[in-house]
Amino acid sequence: MAFHNTGTMSALFLTCPDTKDMDWTREFVHSLRQDGFNNIYSTTDLKLGVIYFEEIKDIIKKVHKILIVISKTSSRTLRYLHTIDCIITHLCDEGRMSTCGVIPLLIEKDVKVPFVLECFHSFNHQTDPISKIKKSLSVITEGQAAFEYSKAVINLSLHESQLRRLNKLALSANTTDRIKELANDAMQQWGIAINDKCLTVDMNTLQNISAYHRLCLRDLFNHFHADDGIRIIRATGVIKFSFQALFENGQVYNDLIAIYRGIFTVLTKDKRYRYWYRYRRNGLIAADGSELAYKPINDGIALFNDGKPHSSEFNTYESRLHSLKNFPIQSQIVRELIAECGFFSLNSLDFIQCFHCGICLRTWNINSTQHSFYFENCALRKKKLEVSERIRSKEIRDQLMGVSFDSIFARMFTYKLFPNFNEYNEQLMKFAQAGFYYLGTQEDTLCYSCCLGLTKIKEYQNPWEVHYMFSPNCKHLKELDEDTIKQFEERRQTCYNSSEFVQYLEIELMLHK
Ligand SMILES: [Zn+2]
Ligand SMILES: [Zn+2]
Ligand SMILES: [Zn+2]
Repeated sequence: MAFHNTGTMSALFLTCPDTKDMDWTREFVHSLRQDGFNNIYSTTDLKLGVIYFEEIKDIIKKVHKILIVISKTSSRTLRYLHTIDCIITHLCDEGRMSTCGVIPLLIEKDVKVPFVLECFHSFNHQTDPISKIKKSLSVITEGQAAFEYSKAVINLSLHESQLRRLNKLALSANTTDRIKELANDAMQQWGIAINDKCLTVDMNTLQNISAYHRLCLRDLFNHFHADDGIRIIRATGVIKFSFQALFENGQVYNDLIAIYRGIFTVLTKDKRYRYWYRYRRNGLIAADGSELAYKPINDGIALFNDGKPHSSEFNTYESRLHSLKNFPIQSQIVRELIAECGFFSLNSLDFIQCFHCGICLRTWNINSTQHSFYFENCALRKKKLEVSERIRSKEIRDQLMGVSFDSIFARMFTYKLFPNFNEYNEQLMKFAQAGFYYLGTQEDTLCYSCCLGLTKIKEYQNPWEVHYMFSPNCKHLKELDEDTIKQFEERRQTCYNSSEFVQYLEIELMLHK
């Protein structure tokens, strides 16, 4: 759709065949023409008849703006309301909602805007200055159009039932790519981005916006992305967000967990397979409050499971212990503890999964799991908490596992698992020196001392600096000299929160073989 760069736009005036309204409109169109708006069509010039709507559809093709004149009488005239309905539907079907502006123009005070027009910015001829109305007829860029659309969606403060109707109306089955783009723009403003099978949710942005606006998040997501086959759910903006505030806004919280449930449903469409997932964090320490961002995912899983055990074949202690026979941690005590809390081995590194609720953990992380909500939806919750309490202290854990990553040699040894180990030798060595050991998946590492997780070995050129950036109080950093620390601190002041150092936690969904 080409826009005129300068000058005035063509516009269509829509008016009700009520003598008073038509007189007013003729007068107004006349004054606009005198102001140089020479490309105006008006229904006051049309002959009424069977082909009335066909004629309007023809004109719509040629215009960039549709002004809908509404008076008290016409706002209650069913035939007129039906015409408006048809026009909006027609715009949707043609994929022109974003390129053709719709402007309700109220010519009396206290006119009720018809429902289908509520999401458009309306003008009142009695109270708005005429210059403002004329300005609304001027050129806007596509970028502005996108912004206006997002704003219109965000500002909807209607009841849920109305929202549903509106979404059905605004998003017909054959929406165009352009509309999809705009819907994505709107979601992005709410903190939601989807690309390449990864759903990123900025918890801070979402919480802030949803505090003041009703969002039709679930509807937009389901309409455009339900079948995307999302494999990664990533939560950013997790440090500053207030979980309680997000939770109290039931609407957006429910939308969020419904979306997560939908993702699990699509993943396991083929009923032969069940899910498991890898869990990782970047720039975050296991024990800080940011872990709460995981709770909606956990609640989504619980909703998906609907009280049914995830893997009933592992409902006995013996079957679970048996699954651990090739487990990388040799200690029999550790294996028995794992089986006791309901976990079985996934035969993939040290990943374990609860047979009941399907939650996935890595053994090395059990001790750092201080948030009981991980197990909130699990029938074996009490047992899990009791056991994680018993093995929480680092000393006991190291004893049990028979390995301590305090030693740089132990850490270096883990990088033998890294793909193309030799090619990245130098960089991996730097990571080991800076306190990180390799977790065996992708580029996931963990600090032995503060449990800071990092997921970007190749990208983070100076792991010492990154370590300081995210966890300045880590004991391992005591090795650094004062000058270096001063230098790191300066960079921390300027770069913390920059896109280079995004903090997130995420799960990567997998299927059992
Ligand atoms: Zn909704
Ligand atoms: Zn469980
Ligand atoms: Zn550390």
